[in-house]
Amino acid sequence: MEKINMTTPLVEMDGDEMTRILWKMIKDELICPFVDLKTEYYDLGLEHRNETDDQVTFDSASATKKYGVAVKCATITPNAARMTEYNLKQMWKSPNGTIRAILDGTVFRAPITVKGIEPCVRNWKKPITIARHAYGDVYKASEMKIPGPGKCELVYTGEDGRETRELIHEFAGAGIVQGQHNLNESIESFARSCFNFALDTKQDLWFATKDTISKKYDHTFKDIFQDIYDKEYDEKFKAAGIEYFYTLIDDAVARIMKAEGGFIWACKNYDGDVMSDMVSSAFGSLAMMTSVLVSPEGYYEYEAAHGTVQRHYYKHLKGEETSTNSVATIFAWTGALRKRGELDSLPELSAFADKLEQACLSTIESGKMTKDLALITTLEHPTVLNSEGFIKAIRETLEGLL
Ligand code: NAP
Ligand code: MG
Repeated sequence: MEKINMTTPLVEMDGDEMTRILWKMIKDELICPFVDLKTEYYDLGLEHRNETDDQVTFDSASATKKYGVAVKCATITPNAARMTEYNLKQMWKSPNGTIRAILDGTVFRAPITVKGIEPCVRNWKKPITIARHAYGDVYKASEMKIPGPGKCELVYTGEDGRETRELIHEFAGAGIVQGQHNLNESIESFARSCFNFALDTKQDLWFATKDTISKKYDHTFKDIFQDIYDKEYDEKFKAAGIEYFYTLIDDAVARIMKAEGGFIWACKNYDGDVMSDMVSSAFGSLAMMTSVLVSPEGYYEYEAAHGTVQRHYYKHLKGEETSTNSVATIFAWTGALRKRGELDSLPELSAFADKLEQACLSTIESGKMTKDLALITTLEHPTVLNSEGFIKAIRETLEGLL
């Protein structure tokens, strides 16, 4: 078979630990034999980040702006223990945080659904994608403990020195206070990323806040979304046969439990943080969750939602067998290859991505899976494979499909 052609390179961001091991196996077994793979390679492994004073992370984000599509392996976010383990010059920041700040995106997380791994919520038939705004609110809040009686106010001082005040509370005794903010520009990017992603994936978009209680703060989110929708997206949504719908957060939560899935749920920062954990565990496993960062300019960075699976890596280093699930990392590759195919008008490349995904699902549905899935599957007598064996089984299925 002739290899499938690529014209523009993918930005390839290699990573750490067990996922770095899987990364190489995936390329060797599932991609390079079939695709004339073109990538611009950036080694975001912690050792190389440390050697380059983290410059490599910045360079990889710039490259993503140049080429438009990146695929990223999970990376270590250093903490005190990692400082010693890797003898680091500094406690380098989270690469995901750095990349997100440069690309200014929204993170979309979607479960990979497969027969045999059933959601706990019986009526969920299709994936629910969470779109999480990744700036501000409680994550950038200022807080105070109020020691005793006194007046607490919000004060805005304009550039001309004029003050606007809003009473928070006349404290009669001790208490607490918190000041949150967000930026219209960031909310606008969030809205556009969500609308574009809905059009891209042909799914309805839900958005919900607590605007009945928060008449200025949350209401601004609602108004910005509605305004951009009316001006820029209404016709496009109608043409695509999809819907944008806003409701109160309580109503959204109630409806989600009764819905079938197959839509995107846009969430403010805190709601997205909490709800994505609920949705992913209700669908089965973190190892079956994809994640893509979409910028308002239309740059895409694909990755798995899980981390570097450190515990499995230490077993691997000791020469013990591991059974690490590579599906989310494979789907990061297929997401990126399919997007490259769309942007470069290479339908064969996109079709290959579809087949590779199909091969993963069929392999699991045939009862061959890693240990994490074997523990929760409804299929009887699953065959538990090791990390490499599972990838080889997917290759066999893929060769049958091609
Ligand atoms: P993790 O890598 O997500 O793994 C936590 C546990 O979840 C594993 O020990 C394993 O459970 C299970 N698991 C996750 N992915 C799996 C897979 N593909 N197959 C099978 N089981 C899987 O989180 P962590 O171990 O807490 O974090 C390790 C490193 O990842 C940290 O240094 C953190 O900074 C980094 N991290 C990176 C990203 C990113 O780059 N996007 C995201 C999160 C964390 P069992 O051990 O029970 O088998
Ligand atoms: Mg969380």
